[in-house]
Amino acid sequence: MSVRELTHFIGGKHVAGTSGRFGDVFEPSTGEVQARVPLATKAEIEAAIVNAEEAQKEWGSWNPQKRVRVLMRFVQLVQDNMDELAALLSSEHGKTIPDARGDVQRGLEVIEVCLGAAHMLKGEFTDSAGTGIDVYSMRQPLGVVAGITPFNFPAMIPLWKAGPALASGNAFVLKPSERDPSVPLRLAELFLEAGLPAGVFNVVNGDKESVDVLLEDPRIKAVGFVGSTPIAQYIYETAAKNGKRAQCFGGAKNHAIIMPDADMDQVADALVGAAYGAAGERCMALSVAVPVGEETADRLVAKLTERIADLRVGPGTDEKADFGPLVTADARDRVHGYIAKGVEEGAELVVDGRDFVLAGHENGFFSGPTLFDKVTPGMSIYLEEIFGPVLTVVRAADYEEALRLPTEHEYGNGVAIFTRDGDTARDFTRRVEVGMVGVNVPIPVPIAYYTFGGWKASGFGDLNQHGPDAFRFYTKTKTVTQRFPSGVKEGDIEGAHVADTDHFVIPTMD
Ligand code: NAD
Repeated sequence: MSVRELTHFIGGKHVAGTSGRFGDVFEPSTGEVQARVPLATKAEIEAAIVNAEEAQKEWGSWNPQKRVRVLMRFVQLVQDNMDELAALLSSEHGKTIPDARGDVQRGLEVIEVCLGAAHMLKGEFTDSAGTGIDVYSMRQPLGVVAGITPFNFPAMIPLWKAGPALASGNAFVLKPSERDPSVPLRLAELFLEAGLPAGVFNVVNGDKESVDVLLEDPRIKAVGFVGSTPIAQYIYETAAKNGKRAQCFGGAKNHAIIMPDADMDQVADALVGAAYGAAGERCMALSVAVPVGEETADRLVAKLTERIADLRVGPGTDEKADFGPLVTADARDRVHGYIAKGVEEGAELVVDGRDFVLAGHENGFFSGPTLFDKVTPGMSIYLEEIFGPVLTVVRAADYEEALRLPTEHEYGNGVAIFTRDGDTARDFTRRVEVGMVGVNVPIPVPIAYYTFGGWKASGFGDLNQHGPDAFRFYTKTKTVTQRFPSGVKEGDIEGAHVADTDHFVIPTMD
């Protein structure tokens, strides 16, 4: 396989890396290196910032509808190139082609919502807040903002960040994951083709060194991060220390509560898809099943075991595959390390995915599905995010114990409850301490016009991703209180004492 040399995308052009430092991009189903990605120098990051700052002046001055027209063309171009994008994404990440299409599509849905940016960016207006006085607010772009994104959704998450940021009039510097950077580079080309002025969307490839430059540069006004929790916390703290806005989303341990009255066939199907889909490399993957009562647990484990036997693991190009390889050998070894730990800690290993080998793909980063039963809350396979095709079953004696598990867990990204009982579901949705909840829905990723965000160690910062929060995050509010002398009629003067009669007291609007 010839090894492609990737670039950065700065000021509307592909730019070769100059650091002499590179990261390997693998083809996870064969284990081969398919590309080398340059890791940016400080000067390269600064070049992206300078280009972005210059380009933002014009882009930010366009009216919202003019900006939206570019995004509209972009949506069409991505759809026109969907097959190519999905194949590229799958070849670097390892997820199946239908799943790769979903990755692009869920990103596009946020861009589609951004087509209503003119509405989202409207301010407020109060006529005659005091005599002759009007008050209004406006939303203005921040300037240049940065996105730092993970490997597991190389299209969706960059688009979740860039869509609202660009629609709000900002310029964007994206630092995608160094493990699968080709799709973000291709998206940069499509933005340009759609009519986005050069320099408004830049891609700099790199690692911690590049990220630190973005975090320290005062020209970057906000940082949107998605990735693992320790890095999310580091980015949040460093960005805040440097006076930036930051929203940083981290890891997860998503529970599924299964009540005795749940439709067990539906539950087993849902759990198998949500636990093993994309090889478990989703922040919304369900990795903990909590059946309530021993009888429910026995039925669940029996059904899961049955279905797992039918799962097909294969390369992303295998149309019949349910899931593909892990992204790197390190990721696979980490998952296998957790399985060994689970056994050591005394969990019951019902299905072991470690020995899975795919003929013809012996060097691929595959792991078969793994199922643990009788996991307890003190075990590391319960406490920590495994991020692989491993489902753990924690048996709960009753509903209150089941509710306590996700509520008290360090992470709080997603959770689901399976029940036919409306009262139980309602009680659960109100009391559980988790940011996104599904009722008989295993992966409750909110639709693009709502917001996405986890609680506790799954999210740092005040505002969520996409939906109305994203427009708040990427804009600053200016509030104007205005008075024109002609607005004050004679006789009104008593009410128009603001600032006239006493310049030394805070004006009131009586
Ligand atoms: P990661 O934390 O390793 O990397 C994320 C980004 O941070 C990458 O761009 C990487 O280059 C950069 N980075 C890595 N180490 C860094 C360091 N020391 N300093 C500065 N930057 C650094 O995450 P990943 O492995 O790419 O992605 C998987 C993780 O992302 C999982 O924990 C998953 O749960 C999480 N995730 C969360 C959400 C969410 O919305 N909460 C969504 C998707 C993924």
